Amino acid sequence: MSVVGNEQVAGVRPEDTAADRRIRVHGLHREFKRGASRVHALRGVDVTFSAGSFTAVMGPSGSGKTTLLQCVAGMDRPTRGSVHWGSVEITKLRERKLAQLRRATVGFVFQAYNLMPAMTVAENVVLPARLMGGRVDRARARDVLVQVGLGGCESERPGRLSGGQQQRVAIARTLYNRPEILFADEPTGALDRNTGREILWLLREGVESHGQTCVMVTHDPLAASFADRVLMMTDGELVEDLTKPSAAVIAEKLGELS
Ligand code: ADP
Ligand code: MG
Repeated sequence: MSVVGNEQVAGVRPEDTAADRRIRVHGLHREFKRGASRVHALRGVDVTFSAGSFTAVMGPSGSGKTTLLQCVAGMDRPTRGSVHWGSVEITKLRERKLAQLRRATVGFVFQAYNLMPAMTVAENVVLPARLMGGRVDRARARDVLVQVGLGGCESERPGRLSGGQQQRVAIARTLYNRPEILFADEPTGALDRNTGREILWLLREGVESHGQTCVMVTHDPLAASFADRVLMMTDGELVEDLTKPSAAVIAEKLGELS
């Protein structure tokens, strides 16, 4: 059970069975107002992510991938439908409770790294844990930086690092926290192939060694082939659900969609 402040947050708990720790998405719709018109970004998405699975979400630009990720991650509210993390329906939670549970349960990696430029690398790594009111463990921060190949960079500012190194700081942050669920939106989008591959191995390792559940948006078939399962979206709907497809099969299916 995650403990936030003095309050216990019932939710995704380590002692739950795998079946209890699934992420369940039901009848998800998200509409945005744009001037006088509406954009229907999600049109009834139903999907379950099992605990400890690695899923890639693909599809053309504007198909709703980011919107889906944000709604499943509890960062955006769907217009209709439900999202459960384990036994908790997060779409029913009030903002404060949701924010607490999200901090205790979820990690994020974005294309744009989302590091704080004025803070050191080590301060960036411990930031989410600090926001939860946890004590800062400097030795642990050093350890996770060594794990991602950034030993000795604790005191650097992110701006002095390469793109690949900055993304590794973002991953180190999620290793420090060990969130149950990791959401990644185009985590390798700004990286070259080899650096991207290193990041994907780190995501894969989080799944295999720590039983993390990972949902990653990507437009790269090679990146998607690191996942156990590949979902494809068009126009706000899931249209493909592939199990362990090769990069070649993924590329072919993507070609059929666009
Ligand atoms: P993807 O990540 O697949 O490129 P998005 O989820 O970002 O797609 O967007 C899906 C659709 O929703 C697009 O038409 C986009 O313009 C629209 N959209 C996304 N976010 C907003 C927003 N905050 N306000 C208005 N429209 C949005
Ligand atoms: Mg997107």
